[in-house]
Amino acid sequence: MNKFKTMEDKLGLDKFKPSHETHLKIKKEVKGNKVDEKKLVEEVLFICPAKVYTYDENKGQAIVSFENCLECGTCRVAAPDEIEWEYPTGGFGVTYKYG
Ligand code: SF4
Repeated sequence: MNKFKTMEDKLGLDKFKPSHETHLKIKKEVKGNKVDEKKLVEEVLFICPAKVYTYDENKGQAIVSFENCLECGTCRVAAPDEIEWEYPTGGFGVTYKYG
């Protein structure tokens, strides 16, 4: 029987060494048009398996919890024009544990 019941159980095996600087940014504008962060987060970036992107209604802006990034690249493919994506600085980021 699988000892992992949820995705969160599996993600709990990963180790993170977060950098002090984000390696993920949502652009403010694309081709002269302001990016609608709420729509982007709720309609596209919800696909992030680590729930890195959320929208704070009180602040009226997207929150990017880059410390939790799995470096899978899914958001980069889903929103190639809106996301500035880089790997974290060397020595930082996620470390996977298999099994
Ligand atoms: S690279 Fe993957 S884990 Fe990291 S923010 Fe994008 S979708 Fe989420």
